[in-house]
Amino acid sequence: MKSLWAPWRLEFVTKQKRRGCFLCAALKGPDEGKRLVIHVGQTCFCMLNKFPYNNGHLLIAPKRHKGRLDQLTEEEGLELLRMAGKMQNVLKKALKPHGFNMGFNFGQVSGAGLPGHLHLHIVPRWRGDTNFMPVLADVKVMPQSLDALRDCLKIHLKK
Ligand SMILES: [Zn+2]
Repeated sequence: MKSLWAPWRLEFVTKQKRRGCFLCAALKGPDEGKRLVIHVGQTCFCMLNKFPYNNGHLLIAPKRHKGRLDQLTEEEGLELLRMAGKMQNVLKKALKPHGFNMGFNFGQVSGAGLPGHLHLHIVPRWRGDTNFMPVLADVKVMPQSLDALRDCLKIHLKK
């Protein structure tokens, strides 16, 4: 009998109701989330999702706490998309995924855990990554720790 290690699910379930914005906290520190921030631009930044759908799941957000796309400045909107392209290339080099899902969730009904601060999800996909585990048990088996992933992506960011 093999055991599956998925501690982030318990933390997600128990901490989800905690008040405050994890994106602002991660950007400003000294929150523990600060070490998940892997790239900071002029108006936007990128961090690892602490509760990933898949290995390499990144979030890109404006630095300002804004919840709607029409609240972004021209610079923020442009940098958000440009950073998405840059991070997609970093993920391609680092993890060699077969494809990507990218998108925004608006409103809790859509699955947005943090409605007040918009963020673009970048989720690398591999053929066969949708197996029975997430379907049956809401459990994902991650092949790489967040610390190892951060170090790996940072190496490719510098190239
Ligand atoms: Zn925020």
